[in-house]
Amino acid sequence: MPTWRRGGFATTPSKPGLEELTAPGNEPMHAASAPLTRLLWLVTEVTGTVEETPRVRTLLLDAHGWPGHRPGQHLDVRLTAEDGYQAERSYSIASAPGEQLAITVERLADGEVSPYLVDEAREGDGFEVRGPIGGYFVWEDDGRPLFLVGGGSGVVPLMAMIRSASGPTPIRLLYSSRTRDDVIYREELDARAGEGLKVFHTLTRAQPPGWTGYARRIDAELLREVAFPAAERPHVFVCGSTRFVDAAADGLVTLGYEPESIKTERFGATGG
Ligand SMILES: Cc1cc2nc3c(=O)[nH]c(=O)nc-3n(C[C@H](O)[C@H](O)[C@H](O)COP(=O)(O)OP(=O)(O)OC[C@H]3O[C@@H](n4cnc5c(N)ncnc54)[C@H](O)[C@@H]3O)c2cc1C
Repeated sequence: MPTWRRGGFATTPSKPGLEELTAPGNEPMHAASAPLTRLLWLVTEVTGTVEETPRVRTLLLDAHGWPGHRPGQHLDVRLTAEDGYQAERSYSIASAPGEQLAITVERLADGEVSPYLVDEAREGDGFEVRGPIGGYFVWEDDGRPLFLVGGGSGVVPLMAMIRSASGPTPIRLLYSSRTRDDVIYREELDARAGEGLKVFHTLTRAQPPGWTGYARRIDAELLREVAFPAAERPHVFVCGSTRFVDAAADGLVTLGYEPESIKTERFGATGG
């Protein structure tokens, strides 16, 4: 892993230049006429961290000039090494609109960026972000039921949706983790679960004694037990590794969900 700089970034350029980019994927899917959003790299400061699990950490960020976001969107992080080498990665925004900006990162042991964000970045350190990005994987609360399916760190954008829910909309989260210790936001999910939000956990590798949740990978039968009936026309968001997302989406189609009603976001190759 390169030695990443912890600060000293130039402030955002005030006029268009090489640093100003049009972010791919920021256009709503069916809105060819929508104006393209031009995104600037912003210098951000880490203002706090939360250890979520042994491999996952939340970073609270103060990005001066951040324009706000909608639940489900992500941002790009850019790290710069002492020799000028740069690496960019995408991270879902974990916080609800209006809350302090936060990302939640899982360490991939051989990764270039995530070990720095999880193990090394400290309060007061800086790096660059640009966003918000994404007009497709975004929840607009219109009162229809909301069904969320997350694998591993794929729960992050779904948590932003849960955190931004305020009305009576029924929400169900089906969340797959390897073990109980790998469950991100465990206490907050326990605290929020109740009348409006139902949380269903499945632990795929090991289960603690007395575990009453599911204990296998997500399949059509498991989805049948927890999903809203397709006839209720729920909004559906599925997020995780490519393999996880494909399995969940295939299962939902088997249950009668229209493929185009299932919004998916893939984090990477293997994952969760
Ligand atoms: C839209 C979007 C949102 C994302 N949101 C989040 C988020 O909220 N939290 C989060 O932790 N990550 C998120 N990711 C994944 C993130 O962008 C990086 O891919 C991840 O942090 C790995 O980067 P790295 O530099 O540490 O590893 P790299 O140096 O890029 O890769 C190291 C090794 O891991 C493999 N690999 C790369 N990505 C993954 C992956 N996701 N799962 C398993 N293996 C992988 C590579 O093939 C390689 O072998 C998101 C990705 C996308 C596209």
